[in-house]
Amino acid sequence: MNAIEEIKIDQMELHLLRHFKKNPTDLQALLSTGSEIIIMFNQEHDNFWGHCTCEECKDKEHHNHRGFLLMKIRLNTMIKEELCAD
Ligand SMILES: [Zn+2]
Repeated sequence: MNAIEEIKIDQMELHLLRHFKKNPTDLQALLSTGSEIIIMFNQEHDNFWGHCTCEECKDKEHHNHRGFLLMKIRLNTMIKEELCAD
């Protein structure tokens, strides 16, 4: 991964964190997925943020960065809630 991609991912993480802060219902929906693997399936050839399921992208690498960010935010939120529970 190059530096530009890393910055793009950091910016997306910040964007998602702001979104969840403003939309607690969405955060609850994310938490309700428990420990499920989140994959952003699509048909738009987006293999950076997700996983395109079209025939053309079959052999490409599917990075699913948005899915991984959502799982990261989910885990961090669970850890925070756990620590605050005591
Ligand atoms: Zn595709």
